[in-house]
Amino acid sequence: MATEKEILAKYEGQNPKKLKVFVYYTEKATGIENEMNLWEWLRIKRDRNRRDRFEFDRVVDLSEGVPTIETSDDKKPEEPEIVEDKFQCPLCGFVALNEGDLKLHKEAKHS
Ligand SMILES: [Zn+2]
Repeated sequence: MATEKEILAKYEGQNPKKLKVFVYYTEKATGIENEMNLWEWLRIKRDRNRRDRFEFDRVVDLSEGVPTIETSDDKKPEEPEIVEDKFQCPLCGFVALNEGDLKLHKEAKHS
């Protein structure tokens, strides 16, 4: 996980108007989330009167076709939790306590 500075560092030296990079941000006064082009974001960052009004959220980079999303430290993307029944019997759905238990179950019920 990277900070805004680290995320934006890789676009340094490039013409931001040629990049298909979008910054997602939260407008502090309203709490509204929105997006803008990277070049607009960089312009605001140079503007002392405006830069503190917006909180950086993440960057979506469409320049390589597939969007890559980079998120700053304080906001982690919500990932669905994958619950896996590691010791579930594929034959009847019985959930064992551990590998040995599952093996015993299979021997007892399915052999
Ligand atoms: Zn079973």
